[in-house]
Amino acid sequence: LVKLEAVNKHFGALHVLKDIDLSVARGEVVVVIGPSGGGKSTLCRTINRLETIDTGSITFDDQRLPEEGKALAKLRSEVGMVFQSFNLFSHKTIMENVTLGPIKVRGVSRQQAEQRGLELLERVGIASQAAKYPAQLSGGQQQRVAIARALAMDPKMILFDEPTSALDPEMVQEVLDVMIGLARDGMTMLVVTHEMGFARRAANRVVFMADGQIVEQGDPDEFFTTPRTDRARDFLSKIL
Ligand code: ATP
Ligand code: MG
Repeated sequence: LVKLEAVNKHFGALHVLKDIDLSVARGEVVVVIGPSGGGKSTLCRTINRLETIDTGSITFDDQRLPEEGKALAKLRSEVGMVFQSFNLFSHKTIMENVTLGPIKVRGVSRQQAEQRGLELLERVGIASQAAKYPAQLSGGQQQRVAIARALAMDPKMILFDEPTSALDPEMVQEVLDVMIGLARDGMTMLVVTHEMGFARRAANRVVFMADGQIVEQGDPDEFFTTPRTDRARDFLSKIL
């Protein structure tokens, strides 16, 4: 579904993505793991073109990523993104957060959007909170709203950038459970996370990234039990 070939990206003199080759097939769940500053967020952001690249190519659905205009808006609606910091609209209700995209971008009627919104809020277990505002919800609930909002656009893929790392420990699992459900239902997902339990249960592949490079990738169980590189062994010894 998405294919990066020889992608390079700099921020000024800093080389943050170095010759990245990475494909994610339809229905595949890929977990990206690695030390801080390694380029994981930047990698995610290049896929829905929140960041441009210097050289190389990225295709989505066999098309080069669009530069601007309607085609770019279409790409952004097809590639959902869930951030560490939820990024909900604080002055809008939960239901408004979930229906805004479909109404504004897709031209869906309010009634239809709300019907579907309710289904999605049920799916993530917070339909009863629909009329509240984000600040009235726990972090775990807010992140589940963010997932429902991404789903409301019927994305072909969802990017998750450390979706549970801002949450209190007791709320991590409720968000991971929703993500595991999505993975089981066949959603294509690229997930930056250090949650090994999630990787082992839901990922088809783990990609270990450090210093802007993909250092190794493979089967989750193999990666966590017998990493092939010193770099990965060293990293795992620090987080596990
Ligand atoms: P973390 O685990 O801390 O989230 P990361 O692997 O997601 O790290 P990135 O956020 O992709 O890493 O950052 C890679 C490098 O690029 C870092 O050195 C970071 O400081 C730098 N960087 C990221 N965004 C920008 C920006 N907009 N301008 C300049 N430098 C940036
Ligand atoms: Mg990051």
